[in-house]
Amino acid sequence: MSNIFLKPGREKALLRRHPWVFSGAIARVKGNPGVGETVDVMDSDGGFLARGAYSPQSQIRVRVWSFDPGTHIDEGFFRQRLGTSIANRYPLFIDAPPQTAARLVHAESDGLPGLVVDRYADTLVMQVLSAGVERWRETIADLLLVLTNARRVYERSDAEVRKLEGLPLRVGHIRGEAGPERVQIEENGLEFWVDISKGHKTGFYLDQRLNRARVRELAAGQEVLDCFSYSGGFALNALAGGAASITAVDSSSDALALADENRALNGLPADHVHWLTGDVFQVLRSFRDQARDFDLIILDPPKFAPTSSQAQKAARGYKDINLLALKLLRPGGLLVTFSCSGGILAEFFQKIVADAALDAGVDAQILEHLEQSPDHPVALNFPEGAYLKGLVVKVV
Ligand code: SAH
Repeated sequence: MSNIFLKPGREKALLRRHPWVFSGAIARVKGNPGVGETVDVMDSDGGFLARGAYSPQSQIRVRVWSFDPGTHIDEGFFRQRLGTSIANRYPLFIDAPPQTAARLVHAESDGLPGLVVDRYADTLVMQVLSAGVERWRETIADLLLVLTNARRVYERSDAEVRKLEGLPLRVGHIRGEAGPERVQIEENGLEFWVDISKGHKTGFYLDQRLNRARVRELAAGQEVLDCFSYSGGFALNALAGGAASITAVDSSSDALALADENRALNGLPADHVHWLTGDVFQVLRSFRDQARDFDLIILDPPKFAPTSSQAQKAARGYKDINLLALKLLRPGGLLVTFSCSGGILAEFFQKIVADAALDAGVDAQILEHLEQSPDHPVALNFPEGAYLKGLVVKVV
C-alpha cells in the first residue's frame, strides 16, 4: 500500500477525525497510488493517522475511510458502513407519517466520503462524487441491492464536482430491473413524481422534508408566495395546509409543469394556485412595483456559493431576494428563508437576512432556526456536512 506523509504539524485535522487531507498538507508520496486507490496517511514521523482513498487530481487529495489501522478497505468494509447507514433510516419508512423516500447515505457524515444514496420507493439513486467511491462503485451498487429491498439502482453521477476529481459525468441504470425514469414517492402523506434521470440532484430535495411539513402548519388561511418552487414541494404542502392562495415561481417551466402534475396527483384544487415561470429576482421586483403583498413567503434558492470563496458574491444575491421578500410581506407576515450553500455558514446567513431587513426598513424577529432533515445527518467531526440553514422570520 502506498503511503502519504504529511508535513510537520499538518496532522491536526486528522487527529480531530476530520476526513479530508488537502494537497498542501502533503510532504511526499511513497509509491505510485492510482485514482481512488487505498493509501495510508502518516504524520511527519511516520506514525499512522488514517486510511483513505487517493485522488491525484483533487485538492482534497485523500478522503478518509477509517482512522483504525486494523480496518481493511474491502467489500466487507462497505457492507458494514452501508448496512449501518441504511439501518439508521429504517424508522423513517415505518413511523407515521409514512415516507417512501429518504437519503440512505449522506457521504462523509455516514463515513462514506463522496457517496450519496437516495431512496425513492423501489428505486435507489446513487451519486458518486469522489475518486475513492468511483473505484468501489460496482461493489457498492451490488451491495445496495443486497442490503435493501429496492428493485433497482440508478446512477446520477453528473454533478459538476466530479470534474474536480477528474471523473467523467455518468447517468443511467446500473443494477436491478430497468424501470421508468419517473418514480412516485410519498412524503409526509403527499405524493410526488420524481424524475430520477433529469431532475435536479438525484431528483428531489429530500433535505427539506421537515421544513415542508413546518410550512404546511404555518400556511393555513395565508396568501403564500413560494420562490424557487421546483416540483412544488413547499407549494403543495402550503396548499395541503389550507393556504388561501399560492403563487409559485421557478425559472424552469418543466419543473412547474411537474409541480402541477403533483398537485393533481394529490387531488388538490387548482383554482388558487398560480404557477409562474420567471426569474425570482425579477418577479420580486415586479411584485414590488405592483404593490403586491403576501402573508407567507418561502425563499429556497439554489446554491449561490458552493464554496467559501464565492461567499461574498453569493451574499449579495441572498440579501437581494431577502430584502425584496421582506418588503412584500404584510405586517405579521412570515418569511421562511433558506441557504443551501456550503460556503455560507449559519451565522453569516443570519447576518445577511438582518442586513436585508435593515435595508428594507422592517423590524423583524427570528422565530425559528431550520436545518436539513435528519436523514442528512452531520458528523460532529465534519461540520461542513451542515449545509442547509433556514430561518422563520416574522415582520413585526
Ligand atoms: N423548493 C424546492 C427546491 C428548490 S431548488 C423544493 O422544495 O423542492 C432551486 C430551484 O430554483 C430550481 O428548481 C431552479 O430551477 C430554480 N431557479 C434557479 N435560479 C432561479 C431564478 N433565478 N429564478 C427562479 N428560479 C430559479
